[in-house]
Amino acid sequence: MGSAARVVVALLALLAASPLVLGEYAQQILSQAFFFAVAAVTVDILWGYTGILTFGQSAFFGIGVYTVAIALAYYVQSELGTAAAMLGAMVAAALVGAAVGWLSFFDEASPIYVAIVTLALPVVFTQVILSGGAYTGSSSGLPIPVPALSIMQWYWISGGLLLLVSAVAYVFVSSDTGRILVAIRENEERCRYLGLRTSRLKIGLMAVCSAVAALAGSCYVLFGSVAAHSYGDFVFGTELVVWTALGGRGTLIGPVVGTVAVNYVSAVLGGNLPFVWLLFVGFAFVLTVVYLPHGVVPAVGGALARLTRATVLRRTGPGVVGGVAEARPAAALARVVPSGRPRVEGAATGDESGTPAVELRNVSKRYGSLQVLDAVNLRARRGEVVGIVGPNGAGKTTLLRCIADGRERSSGEILVDGRPTAGLAPQECVALGVSRKFQTPNVFDALSVLDCLRVARSYRASASRWRRTPTVELPEPALHTVRVSGLLALLDEPAAHLSHGSKQALELAMVLALEPTVLLLDEPTAGLTREERAAVGSVLTELAHSHRLCILLIEHDLDFVRDISTRLVVLHMGRVLVDGPLAEVAESEVIRTIYVGGGAGR
Ligand code: ADP
Repeated sequence: MGSAARVVVALLALLAASPLVLGEYAQQILSQAFFFAVAAVTVDILWGYTGILTFGQSAFFGIGVYTVAIALAYYVQSELGTAAAMLGAMVAAALVGAAVGWLSFFDEASPIYVAIVTLALPVVFTQVILSGGAYTGSSSGLPIPVPALSIMQWYWISGGLLLLVSAVAYVFVSSDTGRILVAIRENEERCRYLGLRTSRLKIGLMAVCSAVAALAGSCYVLFGSVAAHSYGDFVFGTELVVWTALGGRGTLIGPVVGTVAVNYVSAVLGGNLPFVWLLFVGFAFVLTVVYLPHGVVPAVGGALARLTRATVLRRTGPGVVGGVAEARPAAALARVVPSGRPRVEGAATGDESGTPAVELRNVSKRYGSLQVLDAVNLRARRGEVVGIVGPNGAGKTTLLRCIADGRERSSGEILVDGRPTAGLAPQECVALGVSRKFQTPNVFDALSVLDCLRVARSYRASASRWRRTPTVELPEPALHTVRVSGLLALLDEPAAHLSHGSKQALELAMVLALEPTVLLLDEPTAGLTREERAAVGSVLTELAHSHRLCILLIEHDLDFVRDISTRLVVLHMGRVLVDGPLAEVAESEVIRTIYVGGGAGR
């Protein structure tokens, strides 16, 4: 039995046995807290793991509460009818959740959109309930006939539901798809440029989390026997966020501990000291945000881990702990394996008569009155390394952005392998074969090297929702980059701990995992040592020659450009000044003026 399964069995045993020591009052309070904790777990998945700050989970809980309450008050009596109402509540919540996601997660939406939309949702929900008169019970609440179950039975039902939801959530967040959620939280733009349809994933996630919150609400009203608008209002929505933050977001256990602790202690102390208690919760929240920004559970967990490590060190000396962290290249090689796909091949492999891998026709880009690109024409074929040089502000990065994002240009046409990119989002350009490496390394700091590669590869090999694949299959160019950059020894290292050079190499391996035909590199050697530059240079040359990639490269280091480019394009004030073979352009007057004289045409 795996360790996770053992924990579930132990918690089940604890749940079954705990009524022996807990009084009825405690069971009642805990049952309520368990239902709330289910909603808090959905907040954690959305906010803690995926970075979607939502105040609206209360509204979905409320949809569950009121759908079942109205059904039982007016329309159904049987158990089957109740079950159908619960199912209906989940479907309704999923639809509303999907609509909220659709409104909030369009491609260029700011993260603040979802906070605003989910803030409005509980307000709208409350208004609907309050204006429903006797039908919804308005502000007095709607009492309903409920099943005759004992407090202990409710305790088991609520605890069982919480355990079930937490276990499924644990499996999900630990899976390959769970890693993508964290990648979205860390750097959604990078995910899009890795070809991932992040908006679709977030809308789906929102719909499922909404349905689960509605399930919790519909069970809760059967337990509580009265539907009240406060179960769907803004205050409850904010409380769910506060409990999650207090316990520790992005941990699953944090929101459960936070919700149960605050609700239990509230019930015990709140009766005697109602206002002082609320003040205390507010104070604790502020202190936690300031001093324990990751919440109580991670802080306690971190302290315990440090204590255990210190104890082991004291007992055994430093050798053992050092040994654990030692790299095992052979084992690492077994985890990063060749994808077995055919090499990138094309009809036009550098052949002059074939379709260019990328072609720009009269491409212009304006920011208001600022003309950044002015009627740029450019063609590049597979097997070419085109160095794009020019002074700062010439429009080089903008040029790459226009190729990688079909919505960027103001006018003109861009074709990738003969197919127009007009209007295509970055993830759709990836499908045409375009990969972009950013100027500063863009990796997912919270993920390990292996997980970063797995997330990148999930564009080609779809990610499992239920398990973590132990290996990652990479195409030969990405594998080669991982090998020569020494990343094999760092597979389990969080990307945040890598050196600048290793991060650059990791991002290069990530974009190569997409099996692109056009590779856009923005200063890939910035901040690298001489040896690292040489290694990157040989990888790029190999990619162009053996794998027939078309590489467009922005680089300030003219020696590096000379070493690896087959062609040079000089950009100045958004125009192509010169475009020609390396030998001609590298020695030209224009290059000398720009690099020695400080800018052409000045
Ligand atoms: P380069 O990469 O050659 O240094 P860039 O493409 O980054 O040049 O920028 C070209 C010009 O476009 C600069 O003057 C820059 O200030 C301007 N620019 C770039 N991005 C934006 C933006 N989002 N809004 C307004 N101006 C921009």
